[in-house]
Amino acid sequence: MRFEVSRVMDTVEQRLTTDITLAQAVVDLADVARFQELDGGRPVNLLRVGMVLDALAQYLLDGAAMLYPVAGRELISDQALTSKERMVLGRWLDSGRIEAVPMVGDRVIEVADFTGMPVIARRNYRQYADRFPWLGDSPERVLRLDRRPGKAVLIPGAEPDSAPTGNVRSVGRYATTAATPDTGDRVFQPRARQPQTRVSTRAIEPAASPSSLGATLLARSWRCSEDLCPSFGADRELGEPVPRLLKGVPSCPRHERPLTDAGSRPAEYPVAVVIEDTVRLRFPVTAAAPVHVGRDADISLKLWLHEGASSWIADRHLTLEIIDSGLVVTGVGENGTVVWHRGGPGEAGESVRLYEGQRYALGRHDSIELYTGVELVPGNRRVVGGPVSARDVLSVLADAPTVALRAHSS
Ligand SMILES: [Zn+2]
Repeated sequence: MRFEVSRVMDTVEQRLTTDITLAQAVVDLADVARFQELDGGRPVNLLRVGMVLDALAQYLLDGAAMLYPVAGRELISDQALTSKERMVLGRWLDSGRIEAVPMVGDRVIEVADFTGMPVIARRNYRQYADRFPWLGDSPERVLRLDRRPGKAVLIPGAEPDSAPTGNVRSVGRYATTAATPDTGDRVFQPRARQPQTRVSTRAIEPAASPSSLGATLLARSWRCSEDLCPSFGADRELGEPVPRLLKGVPSCPRHERPLTDAGSRPAEYPVAVVIEDTVRLRFPVTAAAPVHVGRDADISLKLWLHEGASSWIADRHLTLEIIDSGLVVTGVGENGTVVWHRGGPGEAGESVRLYEGQRYALGRHDSIELYTGVELVPGNRRVVGGPVSARDVLSVLADAPTVALRAHSS
């Protein structure tokens, strides 16, 4: 049992991040950990974050969906947590996978406002509608955390304990933290278009954008005066979170001290690996280094490839990198790579084939096809329109029997 719980915690850890390029929803961790009615177990239980990750994955139809958890001091120091949970929580805090704050207050809403990502909530945040009017105007940006037999669900725009609404709408967000041109400037444009071999059914649906204040803050890099700060320290390995605004001053959410402006923030793009319309993995492309993708590369796809795809796709099939703040793909494999260019969400698009050494600057709605059913979708968006059903989305709790939630492991 204990082994299984540890393994689940490790799996959960991979899906938590305060890198706003990768995160897809923000939540007050206490809201989740104290949702006792979810399983009828202990008053506080960290494993419930796994159930919420599953709910987010089901909601987004994205088996790699990532969560930005904020934890207040009252949760972190809660004596009702088991020693195992305190150890895990400490590790998550130190690595910057969750954000520690003295008081949560409106921080969760602030993160949502600055980034455009939705909020997962049990409690009502309407008291903050003065500072964040969208809480009243765009209630669908709050995903109400509720329970169904054996699982958690997310209901956009619903008041606490109200009946679920039938019409589920996307509340994803735009792709990048840096300003993205609407149409990609092509670095390379092949003269002859290849005939269209497959019309993608994929529609890529954006929703909320960062607020203008958020966009301004996100355009800069920030440093905390505490060198070892997991949020804004010099040694942080993850991409950056967003500052807390205290009395109008960009501040460290953890240490509540003013941050220094470390220059303009380099462009950074999230990319999702989509196999047969199911998101399997999400990774960032940063200015630090190009990312090679293929059967066996920085991002290795071989685990998910059937024989036909495996023999078509090269070990190193393509390279993604940042050039002039845009996301650029370079064909490497000899069989070529297809880019589907779309002027807007939901368009079928037109295809451009890249051969060795050919480059293409990806637009906001473009996707890359390495082989039929093996795609890269730039942008942190909900993928809709495919034949995916919730059944195709795997659970992070696959290894944890429900009884683990009730267990007093210590
Ligand atoms: Zn700090």
